[in-house]
Amino acid sequence: MIFRIIFTDISINPRKIITHLNIKPRLCLLKSTAFDIIIHVKKVFIKTYGCQMNVHETEKLYSAFERENITAADCAENADIVVFNTCCVREGAETRVLGNLGQIKKLKQSKPNLIVAVCGCMTQQSKAAEMLHKRCPFINIITGTYSLGALPQMVKAVEKGEKFILDLSVNEEVPQGTNLATRSDNVNRFVNIMYGCDNFCTYCIVPYVKGRERSRRLVDVKEEVRILIENGAKEITLLGQNVNSYRDENNDFYSLLSELAGLNGDFWIKFMTSHPKDLSDDVIKLVGSEKKLANYIHLPVQSGSDDILRKMNRKYGRAEYLRKIDLIKEYIPHVGLTSDIIVGFPTETEKDFSDTLDLVKQVEYNNLFMFIYSKRNGTPAAIMDGQVPEEVKKERITRLIGLQSEISNKLAEKCIGETFEVLCDGHGKNATGKTSDDRVIVFDDGGKDYYNQFIEVQITSVKNSKLYGKIRG
Ligand code: SAH
Ligand code: SF4
Repeated sequence: MIFRIIFTDISINPRKIITHLNIKPRLCLLKSTAFDIIIHVKKVFIKTYGCQMNVHETEKLYSAFERENITAADCAENADIVVFNTCCVREGAETRVLGNLGQIKKLKQSKPNLIVAVCGCMTQQSKAAEMLHKRCPFINIITGTYSLGALPQMVKAVEKGEKFILDLSVNEEVPQGTNLATRSDNVNRFVNIMYGCDNFCTYCIVPYVKGRERSRRLVDVKEEVRILIENGAKEITLLGQNVNSYRDENNDFYSLLSELAGLNGDFWIKFMTSHPKDLSDDVIKLVGSEKKLANYIHLPVQSGSDDILRKMNRKYGRAEYLRKIDLIKEYIPHVGLTSDIIVGFPTETEKDFSDTLDLVKQVEYNNLFMFIYSKRNGTPAAIMDGQVPEEVKKERITRLIGLQSEISNKLAEKCIGETFEVLCDGHGKNATGKTSDDRVIVFDDGGKDYYNQFIEVQITSVKNSKLYGKIRG
């Protein structure tokens, strides 16, 4: 950062001013009455892995650094501090962290003062933290999911000479008040409504690294949403591992949604993730009747086989899930449905898998997030008999991807000629926007700026399930 200060009164001593301003210039070029101060502002780059919760944690982390006058860098090469906010839901995410740390090792050789921190779900597991410390001794800070907010202070301690900080402490206290991430773009903002998970699906590591389920106070969530809307946000996504089990004293998820839908302004509320066992009929009806609650439900089914669902400890069966889907389609007009599916869970037979294919055909999701089952140490499924060979898992996921792309394409084709209300989040010939049912539409904005505005777009064509449209004038 360069400041140019020109003094009109030559009796002023510039050095005294610098001392008075309490800044530490790296370079100070004096030129008679004008001089430049070049202040080196520290920069941080945060690499995020995993879900939207992590994306949101990263935003809040950037804000915590900003409060310490450490600004965001656009890449690791331009940073003084590099943070990896990790995920461990599947093995692939951990492998990527290790690969990226290899690149940072090289960077640190040319920039010895670079501070490297690794935090989040992967490092909350003490074995993973130990392994990283051994394999990558250049890492300065390792912390888990609970102490993220303290990272700027840990960085300061390292600057003061501390060689290595390890903090895997567990703190399940729910933060009080609001915690807004500062961000210049407003289109889609995240608000955490709860933390942790109590469901212990047998394949999943989340409850072990994020702790027990706990909700934020309704007043805090409402205030945070109100401020975001006041500041121009048009789409708010409420985040939690199982938002339907939200509870603050007598308030449940239904009460929270009703309160938020009553706020003034022009906005949509979306939420994720809904657990099929907890999504109530009342919430479905509320989403269908309140315009400010978007017509979008992400309802992960994981499998279409009752036997596999039982072994996964999902606590619902195929028929119950399909009944919920029917109710959603009945009460929420033009609903956008998406889901997560795990392929190759231990003991999954061809019949179990064909039950999944059959359910996918029946529901017709707009979009599916499909995962190959990944063994997570410490979870019950990791030691189950009947692990499915990798090549069988790959062959099955290929079939599932093929089926879903046919469905997505068919549903997209059906939209041709229809007009959608779209929240614009881009500019130019290929501007983009999102619909209430969470579809993405590409359109030409004709050189006008519609960014963060609701506009009407008519679908004119479809290419690879992608919707293209034109603005309705
Ligand atoms: N709380 C959410 C999502 C949690 S993780 C829910 O219950 O739906 C996001 C997705 O990752 C899960 O829905 C699941 O489909 C997938 N996932 C979790 N553990 C996995 C594992 N061990 N292997 C493969 N996919 C997994
Ligand atoms: Fe994992 Fe199940 Fe909890 Fe989702 S609900 S985070 S899949 S344990």
